[in-house]
Amino acid sequence: MKNEVSDLPSSDSRKGESGGVLYVVATPIGNLDDLSPRAVRTLAGADVVAAEDTRHSGRLLSHLGVAKRMIALHDHNEKDRAAGILAELAAGHDVALISDAGTPLISDPGYILVREARSAGYRVSPIPGPCALVAALSAAGLPTDRFLYVGFLPAKRSGRRGSLDLLSNEEATLVFYESPHRILESMRDIADVLGSDREVVLGREITKTFETFYSGSVTEVLAELERDPHGSRGEFVVMVRGAMGRSDNSEEATMDVDRVLRVLLAELPVKKVAKMASELTGLGKNELYQRALALKDG
Ligand code: SAM
Repeated sequence: MKNEVSDLPSSDSRKGESGGVLYVVATPIGNLDDLSPRAVRTLAGADVVAAEDTRHSGRLLSHLGVAKRMIALHDHNEKDRAAGILAELAAGHDVALISDAGTPLISDPGYILVREARSAGYRVSPIPGPCALVAALSAAGLPTDRFLYVGFLPAKRSGRRGSLDLLSNEEATLVFYESPHRILESMRDIADVLGSDREVVLGREITKTFETFYSGSVTEVLAELERDPHGSRGEFVVMVRGAMGRSDNSEEATMDVDRVLRVLLAELPVKKVAKMASELTGLGKNELYQRALALKDG
């Protein structure tokens, strides 16, 4: 980077062995204060900023007082633009890749570029920061030992239901992104396909003024959203508790696991219960620990 900063670890400010470095820089998902000092320094030091929407990101850069040459890199031109960005790296220029919000490549462009840059031997270095799914999971109170990020569900109802059907026995916590105009339809499909009793947490407008977390069964959360005049406005992360047990019939499996936990809880402390239940059922210890705690608390 041109304006090297002394408090960066040396590997941050070193050029790639040959050519420039591609920095993958996370930007805020709502609150500008979430932009890390290291992200600011990386943007300030890059020769070029590759952005999903140059006008949108131009505003972020001018807010930071940074003027940079920008290259638009979005879903529809990524293959073509990757070649130009590789040429920048070949010329020894450092490139900072950003998206409109959050972490590039997470339901955002950048995959082709990162893959090609790595296979061409350039150093690709992440500058981590905000990511809606991680922020949402960190505050949801759902098991995080295993989660499956699914991105956006298909826009059409049949495709959406088909995708949900394939996930119906998945034991990991499911995480979806959803747009405000489809949130109610998607929640109705989740109720129909995964079950209206499934525990769900919605994170809306995370880090913004109207940040709200809705939690409960799918039916309860859907009712709350329908009641809330702002319920279907803003950006959403939908998190659904995974299916309990390995049986095809998830309700039956949940009951079996609960029965094992209850029997053990009558004799043992929760930690021991989780350990033994994990050995008996093959399910994750952390997930069982949380389930046992919930059962203990009634
Ligand atoms: N790359 C981003 C990230 O790291 O999270 C995600 C980009 S994706 C195109 C945009 C989607 O992320 C939104 O439709 C919404 O589902 C989710 N999202 C982004 N910001 C959010 C926020 N502040 N609160 C809730 N969800 C958000």
